[in-house]
Amino acid sequence: MLAWLKSAKAEYDRFILLDRDGVLNVNRADYVKTLAEVSFYPDALRALALLEQKGVGVILISNQSGINRGLIGWEDFFEIHEAVIGRAEECGGAIQAAFYCPHRPDEKCECRKPSPAMIFAACRFAGIEPGQTFFVGDSATDILAAENAGCRGVRICRADSRGTGALAPVEPSFTTLLDAVLSIYGKNF
Ligand SMILES: [Mg+2]
Ligand SMILES: [Zn+2]
Repeated sequence: MLAWLKSAKAEYDRFILLDRDGVLNVNRADYVKTLAEVSFYPDALRALALLEQKGVGVILISNQSGINRGLIGWEDFFEIHEAVIGRAEECGGAIQAAFYCPHRPDEKCECRKPSPAMIFAACRFAGIEPGQTFFVGDSATDILAAENAGCRGVRICRADSRGTGALAPVEPSFTTLLDAVLSIYGKNF
């Protein structure tokens, strides 16, 4: 598990956990491998700004098996990571921490979603219990990871999504991150 923390302790009352590819930026069938392949969803950038404005700390939790598949170089990976953090801040948002699993499924690591390990690590960093937060993702494995961790999973199904797996029996699901965030925190949020 790779962990990036903006600071030793994030001073927020509330936190939300977000998947990255397919939630903040457009996912690709052949993985998001270089900065040139990163395309942000405008609604996601607005959602990040809104979350920051309302004092909700954002933590990313992302499987990046493309790394150990040899498809994503480390330099590219870090460049993408920094671009996501930077773009969020340019738009008035902020990301407090990011947890990544670089492993392939056959490595049978402990961190790859649907394992709850990265959610647990995020909650330890945030100083919260999993039951106090939400995990928003676009794949069935995200919802399973949320269930395995004991936090509330929220699925977004984007029109252009490559989110994998059959639709988990969780409703409602949303078409954008902004819709999901407004639903979680209320329209007056
Ligand atoms: Mg995803
Ligand atoms: Zn892993």
